[in-house]
Amino acid sequence: MAAMHPGPVAYFNGKFVPVEEAKISIMTHAFNYGTGLFEGIRGYYNVEEDNILIFRLPEHVDRMMRNAKVLCMDIPEDGAAIEEICLELVKKSGFKEGVYIRPIIYKSEQSLGPTVLGVASSLCCYIIKLGDYCDTEKGLDVAVSSWRRLSDNAIPTRLKSTGSYINSSLSASEAKSAGFHEAIFLREDGTVAEGSAMNLFMVHGGKLITPPVNADILVGITRNTVIELAREALGIEVVERPIARTELYICDELFFCGTGAQVAPVRSVDRRLIGKGTTGVITKKLQDLYFNVVQGKVPEYRKWCREVY
Ligand code: PMP
Repeated sequence: MAAMHPGPVAYFNGKFVPVEEAKISIMTHAFNYGTGLFEGIRGYYNVEEDNILIFRLPEHVDRMMRNAKVLCMDIPEDGAAIEEICLELVKKSGFKEGVYIRPIIYKSEQSLGPTVLGVASSLCCYIIKLGDYCDTEKGLDVAVSSWRRLSDNAIPTRLKSTGSYINSSLSASEAKSAGFHEAIFLREDGTVAEGSAMNLFMVHGGKLITPPVNADILVGITRNTVIELAREALGIEVVERPIARTELYICDELFFCGTGAQVAPVRSVDRRLIGKGTTGVITKKLQDLYFNVVQGKVPEYRKWCREVY
């Protein structure tokens, strides 16, 4: 396999190839109808151990396999095989830095007609290097989007489907072109859902509050991680309940979380400062713990880090 080394590598049609060789036809069902399902998984380079630690790999693979049922996708690889492919991609890439692994199950048949039934699916996967996706120190200035979050009965937000990212793209672009860093989606009923590609937590009265799993959100692995760390390691109460738009303006602290976003404090919403406009105490505690956990530095949570070497 001749390619840039270290460099991005792909798994495509059952083989490991340089990314530039992993190409699909313009007639591919997923390309025409958005019928792809993907994951975004981070690997952190641990300098002391000279190893890459993949964060919560089985949880990501499990989410994708479960969600594949909704789109009636059947592939020859099982969860264990997908985990192995992810590990192998890291090794083949030769990266010794932060990486991002993107497995995709997609309707690979070249057929016409928007249906999920009887259309063959395949797995492909690629790896790239990745540093920060958004700022995690200064605090983000965000805006409530004029685009509503998709609803579970339209294009299920529970699925990390390729087609659903039109919704995210529209909200993020609107926010950025108006001079904000990020967007917050409201649902059709006006309550808060999440960011364009990240979940959201607010701190009020010492409690962490986040929208529930049936509030048209993607149920983030990082969201679940934050909930567990808050409850188990920091003894902070976590409440899952609908959040009204105006609660965002009056809360004490606000932050985004996601594989890409990690734990990213929000400084302002619609030009109203959150708290004093600096990273809040609880956000900072959770963020510090999160960064230590993903680097494999907290023995209790080392179980979430899969060593590549
Ligand atoms: N919501 C959306 C819409 C996302 O795209 C993501 C990123 N995958 C998240 C939330 C966070 O999910 P996770 O923590 O699993 O990366």
